[in-house]
Amino acid sequence: MNKEIFLCSICNINSGTCKEDCKFCSQSVRYKADIDRYKQKDIDKIIEEAKTARDNGALGFCLVTADKGLNDKTLDFVCNTARVLTKEVPELRLIACNGTASIEQLLTLKEAGIKAYNHNLETSRDFYPQICTTHSWEERYETCQNVNKSGLVLITGGIFGLGETQQDRISMLESLKSLNPTSVPINFYHHNEALELQPNSLSTDEALSLVKLTRETIPNAERIMVAGGRELMFGNRQNEIFDYGANSIVIGNYLTTSGRIMSKDLDMLKYLNLEVAKKVK
Ligand code: SF4
Repeated sequence: MNKEIFLCSICNINSGTCKEDCKFCSQSVRYKADIDRYKQKDIDKIIEEAKTARDNGALGFCLVTADKGLNDKTLDFVCNTARVLTKEVPELRLIACNGTASIEQLLTLKEAGIKAYNHNLETSRDFYPQICTTHSWEERYETCQNVNKSGLVLITGGIFGLGETQQDRISMLESLKSLNPTSVPINFYHHNEALELQPNSLSTDEALSLVKLTRETIPNAERIMVAGGRELMFGNRQNEIFDYGANSIVIGNYLTTSGRIMSKDLDMLKYLNLEVAKKVK
């Protein structure tokens, strides 16, 4: 069993303004989901969230923007936020998650203090056109390659429960492995009634076996992170994810849905005799 669990917190610094049509995403303006929508979160609020994450043991703090990719304005906003957080909350390792990005844009983020970039493949190359028609899987893969070339740490994973086959899951995991990521976040689709996509039909046992499959397929990843959908997918069996190979979780709220209060996760880890990682290897 893994003894140290890496905690990460995500901060939606721009929400619900995306014009893409990803069928699992309530942040697309196309589906009119009932969520908070704003262009730029107030910097004081971001600092407050970062301090709360730090005080609850998070090492990673991810600055997320809802858009297809970076433009000059978003890049400026993320860089300014990173500079402020580096000064105000230096204990946190800053991650950016801002969609497709060029090597130049990634280098600019790196200069501003970002240490890692998260860009998920979401699903298999073959299934992706059924999930999104406004941009391609290949663009996503290319951004991950750019992250590796930029020298930033690559965090890439996907979502299970979108209606994909087991073969699609295996294919996605093989693609992820080919990118040699440091961390692999796996999400479980959390249905929103505004979305046409049918609710996730995975059972808890199937989901646990997917955590295991992820760990077995990508053994060199330092972290297998169970991210969005954890509470809904695993319910009172969340403690079992660590037996199946997960050694990282997101604490606090997700992008548009609430997580459980951070202290409950800390209590769970304590009960399991698992330590919160104090530094990144
Ligand atoms: S590009 Fe990102 S924010 Fe936009 S709809 Fe797709 S998943 Fe959502």
